Amino acid sequence: MSKNYIVGFPRIGEQRELKKVLESFWAKKSSFNEVEELAKALRKRHWEYQKEAGISYISSNDFSLYDTMLDTSIMIGAIPARFRDLEGENRYFAMARGDEKRVAMQMTKWFNTNYHYIVPELSLEDSYSLDATKVLSEYKEAKDLGIKTKINLIGPITYLGLSKRIDDGDTYELIGKILPIYEALLAEISELDDEIVVQFDEPIFVTGCEAKVLSLIKPTYEKLAGVSEKIKIAVVSYFEHSVEATKVFVHTPIWALGLDFVYAEENKESLKIIQESGKVLIAGVVDGRNIWKNDMQKTLLLLEDIAKVVDREAIMIGSSCSLLHTPFTLKYEQKLESEIKNWLSFALEKLEEVSLLEKLFFTPEDTQAQKALKENIQANKSRKNSTLIHDKKVQERVNSLKKFEREDSFDSRIKVQREVLGYQDLATTTIGSFPQTQEVRAARKSFKAGEISKEIYENEMKKYIEECVRFQEECGLEVLVHGEPERNDMVEYFGEQLKGYGFSENGWVQSYGSRCVKPPFIYGDISRPEAMTVEWIRYAQSKTEKIMKGMLTGPVTILNWSFVRDDMPRDAVSKQIAVALSDEIADLQEAGIKIIQVDEAAFKEGYPLREEKIASYEKWAVRDFKIAVSSAKKETQIHTHMCYSVFNDIIETIENMDADVISIETARSGNRLLKIFKETGYKQEVGPGVYDIHSPRVPSVEEIVKQIRLLLEVLPKEQLWINPDCGLKTRKWEEVKPSLENMVKAVEIVRAEFS
Ligand code: GLN
Ligand code: ZN
Repeated sequence: MSKNYIVGFPRIGEQRELKKVLESFWAKKSSFNEVEELAKALRKRHWEYQKEAGISYISSNDFSLYDTMLDTSIMIGAIPARFRDLEGENRYFAMARGDEKRVAMQMTKWFNTNYHYIVPELSLEDSYSLDATKVLSEYKEAKDLGIKTKINLIGPITYLGLSKRIDDGDTYELIGKILPIYEALLAEISELDDEIVVQFDEPIFVTGCEAKVLSLIKPTYEKLAGVSEKIKIAVVSYFEHSVEATKVFVHTPIWALGLDFVYAEENKESLKIIQESGKVLIAGVVDGRNIWKNDMQKTLLLLEDIAKVVDREAIMIGSSCSLLHTPFTLKYEQKLESEIKNWLSFALEKLEEVSLLEKLFFTPEDTQAQKALKENIQANKSRKNSTLIHDKKVQERVNSLKKFEREDSFDSRIKVQREVLGYQDLATTTIGSFPQTQEVRAARKSFKAGEISKEIYENEMKKYIEECVRFQEECGLEVLVHGEPERNDMVEYFGEQLKGYGFSENGWVQSYGSRCVKPPFIYGDISRPEAMTVEWIRYAQSKTEKIMKGMLTGPVTILNWSFVRDDMPRDAVSKQIAVALSDEIADLQEAGIKIIQVDEAAFKEGYPLREEKIASYEKWAVRDFKIAVSSAKKETQIHTHMCYSVFNDIIETIENMDADVISIETARSGNRLLKIFKETGYKQEVGPGVYDIHSPRVPSVEEIVKQIRLLLEVLPKEQLWINPDCGLKTRKWEEVKPSLENMVKAVEIVRAEFS
């Protein structure tokens, strides 16, 4: 019997087929029948890929038309009241996306990935009941194709841990209501076959749960394992270690435990008790969330290490997590340099890796496998030694860095800045981007495809920038922006100009529902061959007497939205980016730019899952933001922007970043979330968004006046800037123009009250 295991597989399709049919269905151009037909074809193809690669544990129920947490809510009948009059796909997609009458359920990040799940809404009053349709039918569908699958389920403890209570109270209190549903499900599953593996995903335990939550493990899994002798339970966790939970799981009647050995060395501590318990260990040794080819020599050493403690026979070779978090396949990559392509591995290639590692570990005499190992060693060697990766100059510069922060304190800087810049209290500005119109997108696309010349393209962009400037002047905004028409994406734009960055053509990863992102990847030492933004900003500044704000993406955000090289610590990569950005800031200053915004939209996203690791993340994240802006002169004002509103837990860290002004996303929360800035005696200036840009609504003058007054209850006017809560790129001009005009009028009204 072969012994390898894939936690889960991507479902969007190698050419994003699922995305396309869903969007066409939502646009009423396809029927639901077409969606189902395609979904069925995709499942078949995905199972077959895994079978062909020699995978022994292939999943069913890892497929979803939107999200597996949402599927779980359907499965247990946790339907919020507002959707109960709907049925079938109408109900399903309304829960995910809302409709004319109903707001969608909330969506949030799946642990520290860029995947987003639909947050269940639970309450003590509601009663739940089983709908096993999807689980059972996917299993049968595979079986009819001759493929015996394991069944993937979100574990009940994780499901509750990621839910919210609409009636206030602890979600874990509801275990007594949820567990019987899972038991009933297992009873139905046990009818399917003589022996069947059910995988429960319980990643909640990698966050380091309290004793109260750990105490749920035993009773829950005793019940689940007690349902039927025919069911073998595998519990998997990923992204971090789950040492505390493993201590309990080994004393439950489950069959196997899946642990992540790529992102959590600590899991090795659990080997001894796993061995003693006689459970099977699914060793997650192939990185399920990054794109690098496995270093098999290294992995085999790790496996041998594991085998010193756990019986070889009890080990299975697995992916570290579901392959959902990697792109599908390298086979459509035509443009990638072959040397670089040879260092990479996407989901399909990872199947081969898992399968090969199994052979190498269990049957090393296999000559085919040995041949493949040689190739793997070769590829990793080429990566280690490639001149594409190692840049002595960059390394020397970063290692001998002397300047880590700006010279003067905020107090002395801000005095000079207010004199030089001369802005009023409640100064108005925006976050950077203006609507990306059809024409702007089309011009960028044609230029990229080589259909129009650089000159024509630049003229198009300049025309747009000039229009943005004219509008902002007419509107009466004080600190202007150029509008970012030349940027497809705030990370990709910089990645494209930095050395050490690579791009795939088809490396899409599901972000939520039908949405995918194509993160660029950092493969080598990072440097900046040329200025990246200066010409655009300089041009914009030349069109106005007012202050033009330069716009950059910060090091931590660039890092968090890219696939990062795994041959160097993350913080060392981030530091290289920071140094490159510090040169950009120096050049912008040189070009006469007086205010520079360094966006850290994804600062909070990079936070570690475990509390004990937070301090070290904050330390280097703050260090690198400060390095990036260290070249700013005293009189140059540094802004930053973050797309969050809850700063309670990180307010000191934000202050330590030492930006002169921070704009944040508080529009939807009145002044409630701003209070932390006052309570902690935050000194720097703050621009709390005064209206929500995520909605097409135009806010009225009165509404914004009211919002500004609320802000003034918390912070003095000298400390406040007035701006929308994020960039305007996804909005239309018809919405943006009146909204910003109203914002400026509102400020005038409030200012008049002061004099
Ligand atoms: N400057 C960027 C913009 O306005 C910021 C985007 C963001 O915060 N996500 O588009
Ligand atoms: Zn934002």
